[in-house]
Amino acid sequence: MESMSFDWQSPIEQSHPPAQIEEVKDHPYEYDVFVIGGGSGGISAARWASTLGKKVALADFVKPSPIGSTWGLGGTCVNVGCIPKKLMHYAGILNEAKEDQEFAGIHVEKQAPHNWQKMVQSVQKHIKSLNWGYKADLIKLKIKYFNSYASFLDPHTILLDNGKTQSQVTADKIVIAVGGRPSYPGIPGDKEFGITSDDIFSLKNPPGKTLVVGASYVALECAGFLTALGYDTNVMVRSILLRGFDQDMANRIGQYMENHGTNFIKGAIPTKLEKPDPNGRVIVTYEQEGELKQEQYDTVLFAIGRYALTQGLNLDRAGVKSETNHKFKVNDVEQTNIPHIYGIGDVIYGQLELTPVAIKAGKLLAYRLYGGKTEKMDYINVPTTVFTPLEYGSCGYSEEDAKNKFGAENISTYHTEFRPLEWAYNKGRPEGECYVKVLVNKLDDERVVGFHICAPNAGEITQGLGIAMKCGVTKEQLDSCVGIHPTIAEDCIGLKFTKEENPDASKGGC
Ligand code: FAD
Ligand code: NDP
Repeated sequence: MESMSFDWQSPIEQSHPPAQIEEVKDHPYEYDVFVIGGGSGGISAARWASTLGKKVALADFVKPSPIGSTWGLGGTCVNVGCIPKKLMHYAGILNEAKEDQEFAGIHVEKQAPHNWQKMVQSVQKHIKSLNWGYKADLIKLKIKYFNSYASFLDPHTILLDNGKTQSQVTADKIVIAVGGRPSYPGIPGDKEFGITSDDIFSLKNPPGKTLVVGASYVALECAGFLTALGYDTNVMVRSILLRGFDQDMANRIGQYMENHGTNFIKGAIPTKLEKPDPNGRVIVTYEQEGELKQEQYDTVLFAIGRYALTQGLNLDRAGVKSETNHKFKVNDVEQTNIPHIYGIGDVIYGQLELTPVAIKAGKLLAYRLYGGKTEKMDYINVPTTVFTPLEYGSCGYSEEDAKNKFGAENISTYHTEFRPLEWAYNKGRPEGECYVKVLVNKLDDERVVGFHICAPNAGEITQGLGIAMKCGVTKEQLDSCVGIHPTIAEDCIGLKFTKEENPDASKGGC
């Protein structure tokens, strides 16, 4: 998120400065807009509404995690999500690169243990600077900031509680952007002895032997950097890896992680956590294939999904209907069932939980409300990357979904395995770990409907392919682009062999 300077970091320094706050109102309320939640989506909506001349207020409040972790303004991404995660992912890459560096003539002390405290200190220092930057931006944009917990008193009135005092404000329009928090499994000892992604990035002591419970984005990313940093890392998988993603790719990522030291405990769920000795390890009881087993760990990290933070909002007082998982539905202009109340970001039912999605939805909402624009958020073909040690980038349909949607006979899956040139230093790196596939619809000019890559820097490559897919790129157009040599990205163009005709991707790599 940090690098999204076009609309995240400093709109005040961009071409159009904030307009003067309008004195004339067409409503009886104190604010034109009140935003609940100062994360990716909320700050974006607030800053663009303010830039468009509206009187805006925003409340952000973080309740501590069960073990007491708390943080500043900016929401999940900045404090306990994308930013610390990517920095630790990079730390892992640096550590793993030690193997290659020796062959490049750079002598490194491979046995030196990783200094966890140093890394956490650096990461937290960076986060504090971002927290400060967001606060300064709100001040410059004349957005009234309340470091208070907000809830509804009625459809236009918000109660603000900062733990010491309570106050009320009214607003014409209200944007709910409260995001979510990590779930716990509800087993004995989970909150007492377990932690989540809310805690891992500020953990004071090295995690040691770690059990990560869960098998999706957060679990695999955290397990990935912990393994890469040298910690004994174990992932407890209930069913499959990366549900919702292309399963061929998910299994490749899992295989890479396994080859590089992550231990997977498959078909298992934890049933109990105990710590009889306060200075000892956590004893985890788990069930696998009908059998109860036990293992001891220094750290147990639950990464089993997230719930929306709407329970304390008193949505019923505003009339907003929520779904069973506490999220709520919005229409195609992010409006809830109550016309002046909107929702953006992770709180929306059935939508993607990604920072750029929340930021863009917030900006578009402000422009539709106050900027005379009509553009709606397009949730289709949003590129994403799982930052595992070998990154997995994807955009569009998975192979399974593309074949279901368009008919298996109408999809061609161009693919190849490849080896980045950089890996030539280290002959110990096996063949066949990097892989790309491009799914095209034969009935529509061979238009690209899915792109999947596991490779170093897959995120950077997938961003480019995402732009091309947004423009409706066909296989022919992709191939007409001249490659940049020698890069990994050039392996994505000019693919000759299809999986249907040549299932062995290593043969397609010549
Ligand atoms: P949030 O950023 O969660 O902000 C909501 C804010 O509202 C919070 O500060 C919360 O405390 C506050 N709040 C809640 N209730 C109230 C209330 N009643 N009153 C006042 N304030 C309240 N996405 C990516 O695109 N790329 C990544 O690499 C990535 N990595 C991630 C890694 C992890 C470990 C996690 C957990 C998430 C990651 N995400 C990533 C997802 C991304 O962080 C979220 O999609 C994004 O932060 C959602 O923004 P939001 O505005 O909806 O909510
Ligand atoms: P997800 O909901 O994506 O995955 C939850 C995982 O936990 C699944 O593997 C699920 O298994 C498992 N699980 C659920 N309940 C239990 C249980 N009781 N016991 C054991 N395992 C369980 O959640 P995440 O927290 O990984 O991610 C949340 C969202 O955050 C993502 O959807 C993503 O949008 C966003 N995010 C984005 C990132 C990025 O852009 N790089 C990085 C991190 C997060 P099963 O499949 O069996 O249900």
